[in-house]
Amino acid sequence: MTAGGPEVLTPAFMPVGTRGVVKAVSPEEVWGLGYRLVLANAYHLYLRPGHELVERHGGLHRFMDWPGAILTDSGGFQVFSLARLRKISDEGVLFQSHIDGSSHLFTPELSIQVQEALGSNIIMCLDDVRGYPVTKEEAQEAVVRTSRWAERCLKSKKKVDPGLFGIVQGSVFSDLRKLSTDSLTSLDLDGYAVGGLSVGEPHDIMVEMLEVTVPLLPEEAPRYVMGVGKPQDILDGVLRGVDLFDCVLPTRNARNGTLFTSQGSVNIRNARHADDPGPVDPCCTCPLCAKYSRAYLRHLFQEKEIYGLRLATIHNLSFYSRMMESIRDAVRDDNLRSFAGEFLAKMEETDD
Ligand SMILES: [Zn+2]
Repeated sequence: MTAGGPEVLTPAFMPVGTRGVVKAVSPEEVWGLGYRLVLANAYHLYLRPGHELVERHGGLHRFMDWPGAILTDSGGFQVFSLARLRKISDEGVLFQSHIDGSSHLFTPELSIQVQEALGSNIIMCLDDVRGYPVTKEEAQEAVVRTSRWAERCLKSKKKVDPGLFGIVQGSVFSDLRKLSTDSLTSLDLDGYAVGGLSVGEPHDIMVEMLEVTVPLLPEEAPRYVMGVGKPQDILDGVLRGVDLFDCVLPTRNARNGTLFTSQGSVNIRNARHADDPGPVDPCCTCPLCAKYSRAYLRHLFQEKEIYGLRLATIHNLSFYSRMMESIRDAVRDDNLRSFAGEFLAKMEETDD
């Protein structure tokens, strides 16, 4: 799956390193937690520091000193969610940078050029992303354009090594998801993502769209649901055949003081932890849980100490890594459904 990179066991979760770093942690720490694939972002790195600069410095792996594999998102979603004054045409997306307001035209060809300059192992086709809710006409227009753009991405790809993944669109319309899947799979791409989910639609509809889409994708190609990462969503995805996930949730929540544990989520800012000598999660062996009490971590958060953010991030990434390992074991033992039930029952407790 990751030509030129290490083996990635699936189902896998990718920590998000949008700007060429997983926030608050080192590449050694990410690797040590068992991750072999991280996500970075073409849109952000194109704007700053610039893909050409990264290429001059030996590519993104060298620049960020990451020995594992890198998947880059094409920029379609970020243009949709961050940029101002978007104007989508068949040529590409004209947008204003969210940083300095400068104008840029992102085309399928430029997106591939940026991702190849970064040296990613997996590159994504530029897609036409719409929000939720959206009319069927708009969703159809996005499907048709996404297919045309995927053809142009494939044609403009110069490097042999990176795997090129297409992104299925179609919002919440089953027939459009099918149309999008059929036209992308006819291009015989290296993998397929289900895009446009987790943008505000109800959970049941997200699951329904996976049930419509995933069985139509070729079994030998990796299947990836973009931006999906709550434990329940990951389990629902794996149960329906999804191999790859990414989400800012474990790292962003950590920085907000919300920690995933085997007994539900813990908000370390709560006063009830102020005098608690116990670990955040007695079942976790990460440096935070091995060495420090809830009282200490809460103190670090109260004092806004950087070390608190680091420890919380390492813990949440450790939780996700072990969760994915358990999911892989359960898949191997043909036991996923009962594992999912037990796991989620424990996770439901929360002190938020
Ligand atoms: Zn821990």
